[in-house]
Amino acid sequence: MLDTPAVPHAPQLDERALARALSARHYIGGAFVPARSGASFAVVNPATGAEIGRAALGDATDVDVAVTNADGAQKAWAKLPARKRGALVAQCAALIRAHVEELARLIALETGKALRTESRVEANTVADVLEFFGGLGSELKGESVPFAPDVLSVTVRQPLGVVGAIIPWNVPLLLMSLKIAPALVAGNSVVVKSAEEAPLTVLRICELMNRILPPGVFNMLSGYGPDCGAPLVAHPKVRKVTFTGSVEVGRIVGRAAADKLIPVTLELGGKSPMLVFADCDFEKTVMGAITSMRFTRQGQSCTAASRIYVERPIFDRFVAALAARVDAMVMGDPLDEATDIGTIISEEQHAKVSAFIAEGLATAGATGRACSRLPHDPGLAKGLFIRPHIFTGLTAASRLVREEIFGPVTVVFPFDDAEAVLAEANDSEYGLAASLWTNNLKLGMDLAHRLEAGLVQINQNLVVQANLSYGGVKSSGLGKEASLESMLEHFTHKKTIMVNYAP
Ligand code: ADP
Repeated sequence: MLDTPAVPHAPQLDERALARALSARHYIGGAFVPARSGASFAVVNPATGAEIGRAALGDATDVDVAVTNADGAQKAWAKLPARKRGALVAQCAALIRAHVEELARLIALETGKALRTESRVEANTVADVLEFFGGLGSELKGESVPFAPDVLSVTVRQPLGVVGAIIPWNVPLLLMSLKIAPALVAGNSVVVKSAEEAPLTVLRICELMNRILPPGVFNMLSGYGPDCGAPLVAHPKVRKVTFTGSVEVGRIVGRAAADKLIPVTLELGGKSPMLVFADCDFEKTVMGAITSMRFTRQGQSCTAASRIYVERPIFDRFVAALAARVDAMVMGDPLDEATDIGTIISEEQHAKVSAFIAEGLATAGATGRACSRLPHDPGLAKGLFIRPHIFTGLTAASRLVREEIFGPVTVVFPFDDAEAVLAEANDSEYGLAASLWTNNLKLGMDLAHRLEAGLVQINQNLVVQANLSYGGVKSSGLGKEASLESMLEHFTHKKTIMVNYAP
């Protein structure tokens, strides 16, 4: 018997009680189960430092049980008509919608992301993604091929089998939904390995969806990367891996998948440039920089506009306006509706981001503007808050310009020439996202075609959206997610069937 409380069936707005109730369990074969070893690890609220619950400490034994269950369930799941699978996933969307507020509060508690500006938005997006893919079942169609007169040659889309999905902590609900929804609709079963820092809200989503899906089709494990993620990738019955995380681990996962000769999708880091031309709509672009930099998510985004290039005539005015706007943002308790900016996820990340800021501030000729204010609430004294920083005066060689910081830190440069700034923007090992801000659409489209990035937006910079292929080039990754094409390409294989009916 588990010594944790029963998990509530109805939406639960006491996020602390829900966190305790979800503690120390995986979800395998349609039921909550503890780790086979009985071990668990702490889940910490980054706004207070308090332990809010436990996560089951998964290892290779748990992985084997989860994958065996998923493999057993997959055959019957794949036999359901594709539209029926889609309809079930769409039903899951409706259930998630009914629980949005609960999920938003729990993810705010677990990750320190502000409820109003981030967590509620993310929870709603999960329902959107499930709805979108839920409607795509009938798109899993094949072709007929004009091979020869008396030979009927057709292709059919078939699922790959068990999909292993490894997710990070920054937008775990959204990124998980982009993996599980197409995988399930395409007839695969899934085993998700959650991120160490954010295992509880995704577990709740898994349990909710399991009220609708057949048991074993969607399973979830928590645990550390090398002990739980690596055996998932290596398991012989896992036939596809989709991973979102760091470049370093992405390379490890990619190598392990190559050893097994299985397909892999890798969504990795970014150092996304934002190019601002003097003819832009000034106010819209300043607000666009705040959105682009994901300041409300403490900059913890692989698409964050962490390099901003501004045409010289408006450079000073732009930096001043941006700093003033960010200064007015409220940093505080993630669960408070008044809060714009919450906390960094973990002490490790806090130390890493702080070291980048210290390095920038110590650089000769550089200026770092610290914006907003740390909260005064004594209850948040141990909170992992970091003031947003806007740097100018750095050189292109600075580590702050070249490396992914994953924190509320952006660098701003003046530029004089479109070709030169294009070269600077492309001078990065990453190629995930980019944005351009100009009313000269001829110039904008020309540069958009030549920017080395998987996603380029002009005069907006939205986060990933259902129906738009998303994924990077260069070290930012391999393969796309979020669209119909990505479902077909990355979660099915095309089988050719030929019938010779010659007399
Ligand atoms: P981040 O820096 O965003 O935490 P990571 O790449 O370290 O990114 O982690 C992303 C996900 O990859 C997490 O779920 C983590 O547990 C998992 N992970 C880490 N190391 C490995 C590994 N060797 N094999 C498989 N998964 C791993």
